[in-house]
Amino acid sequence: MKIITIIGARPQFIKAAAVSKVLREAGVVEKLVHTGQHHDSNMSDVFFDELGIPAPEYNLAIQGGGHGAMTGKMLEAIEEVLLKERPDKVIVYGDTNSTLAGALAAVKIHIPVIHVEAGLRSFNRSMPEEINRVMTDHISELLLCTSDVAVDHLKAEGITDGVHLVGDVMADINRTTREDLGSSSELLSEYCVEKKKYILMTWHRAENTDNVERLKAIAEAVSALQEIVVLPLHPRTKKALEREGISLAENVRVVEPLSYHKMTALLVNSRCMLTDSGGVQKEAYWCRVPCITMRDETEWTETVSAGWNCIVGASKDEILKAVRGFIPPIEHPVLYGDGHASERILELLK
Ligand code: UDP
Repeated sequence: MKIITIIGARPQFIKAAAVSKVLREAGVVEKLVHTGQHHDSNMSDVFFDELGIPAPEYNLAIQGGGHGAMTGKMLEAIEEVLLKERPDKVIVYGDTNSTLAGALAAVKIHIPVIHVEAGLRSFNRSMPEEINRVMTDHISELLLCTSDVAVDHLKAEGITDGVHLVGDVMADINRTTREDLGSSSELLSEYCVEKKKYILMTWHRAENTDNVERLKAIAEAVSALQEIVVLPLHPRTKKALEREGISLAENVRVVEPLSYHKMTALLVNSRCMLTDSGGVQKEAYWCRVPCITMRDETEWTETVSAGWNCIVGASKDEILKAVRGFIPPIEHPVLYGDGHASERILELLK
């Protein structure tokens, strides 16, 4: 069996790391296509090096432009690769422009698409990710879900064939990374922080960077905290802050984007996670760190129902209130599988 896997953005490298390892160990021929969507070395290369992801056979180097231009260029370039390679199946992950372009290129030339992380919905169609995931689900042959909620979303849209509950491949990589973490004391000294005495923050969703009011409110909120906030700054947010001339107070330690191991170690040792990321909401849960999510809704509703994730939007007051007062319960049910989703994906492929 020959598989082509399409990746292009940071969370996809992390997800592919888990699945590619299992596929290759089982002798499946897999070739990676990197669209180039994320290309800075700390947003891309570091994950290949650290997580042992094989070098992509194709790097399409497609960056920037509007959504249409980027997706269009990817579609054309991926089709060329697929026509040359003629794989049996194409794997796509998540909800980026690379996901949609990969799925569309494949389905148009009758190559079955496997969507890992299918059925997620925010029900907010102004998010580019929501459009990408809905479209991809409707043209995929195998839809691999992280939870019953995702399976139900697909059912509500009339998709039942090829739907499988496998769990979350991010749980796989999170589990193995935490098993190998060891002591984090050097890392904590490197960032001049003490265990459970700082907040870790990630901030990059378009709605929180392109909307100046939200951008400013978040900047004001974190600057008003009397606590250390470690912020590995995403390139998009860096640009937005520079563009608007917004600076952050000294309690906010702005650092370069982190490798996955460093990110996981800093998360495990943090007092609280402040984020607008998708993946990080789950990772905070698995690491038993209270999560404050700066969005108006989430796809990862189970973390909210479990009481470990608090949705606050981008209001300064709500962010401050939650960071200071949010306390999750003691109960911590298993969410999104047991950390062996990649093995289930392999069985389904076989
Ligand atoms: N991540 C990382 N380094 C960082 C920030 C995030 O390794 O400096 C990881 C994080 O642990 C998670 C993934 O990147 O596994 C989430 O990606 P991102 O927030 O970019 O995308 P989203 O999940 O929102 O689609």
